[in-house]
Amino acid sequence: MPATPAWPPKSAPRLFVPGPLHDGGSLVIEGPQAHYLSRVMRVAAGDIVILCDDETGEWAAEVVEAGKRGVAVSLLNRLRGREQVPDFWLCAALLKKPNFDLVLEKATELGVRRVQPLVTRRCVADKLNPERARTIAVEAAEQCARTALPMIAPVQRLESMLREWPQDRALFFADENGGDPAAEAFASRSGPAALLVGPEGGFDETERAAIRALPQAQAISLGPRILRAETAVIAGCSLWMATSGDWHNSLANPSPLA
Ligand code: SAM
Repeated sequence: MPATPAWPPKSAPRLFVPGPLHDGGSLVIEGPQAHYLSRVMRVAAGDIVILCDDETGEWAAEVVEAGKRGVAVSLLNRLRGREQVPDFWLCAALLKKPNFDLVLEKATELGVRRVQPLVTRRCVADKLNPERARTIAVEAAEQCARTALPMIAPVQRLESMLREWPQDRALFFADENGGDPAAEAFASRSGPAALLVGPEGGFDETERAAIRALPQAQAISLGPRILRAETAVIAGCSLWMATSGDWHNSLANPSPLA
């Protein structure tokens, strides 16, 4: 008995488009996305594409016409709602460009809800191009089948973030100078949480003291070796997702909808 082909086809391209998408709707995809569909993925009339709008969720759509200038599609049905990613923030000091691109990509893949880019005293970089950051997050979300995009906040100085820190949110401060074992610390506190990771040169003593003085802050250790900042981000986010996040869910058994 031949196996029933998966529907929608696993190879169907996935794109985030402006919403809200709705039953019976149709749209023309233009610009770089149209180029990607028609030139790279070579879609043709009748092919299926997966569209997300970061609002109503994920939809299957059928290509009606694929042209150089645009790809016309009609929406078939909603496949799943917008997922509820765990209430976990990443507060990461800005790094030299390729490394912070990696931080944004991995934070999206790992399920971070909000990224807070920070400027600290030892930061080498102090700016972040918001469009570029969003493009990196959208591409990572398209690749990892995420239906809710992470919120990327405007760059903020560490001092002002600490001043405005929400009462109810735990701030796990990744400190290479030592702290509580991360997994135990994460497992011991439920509720809204955030991970704070420093720049290439780490935090200076004044910053360290200010962070530790915050009642919601808890210094955590990610082991005996000094990790690169981007490695600390990936390790810390993975550990939190495994202990307190949504890693007990899977694509086959998804997390609750937003
Ligand atoms: N200041 C350090 C140095 O140059 O000696 C290195 C800073 S490290 C490259 C960048 C950031 O990663 C640190 O500020 C810290 O947040 C995090 N980090 C690195 N290794 C860590 C560890 N073993 N435990 C906890 N956090 C760590």
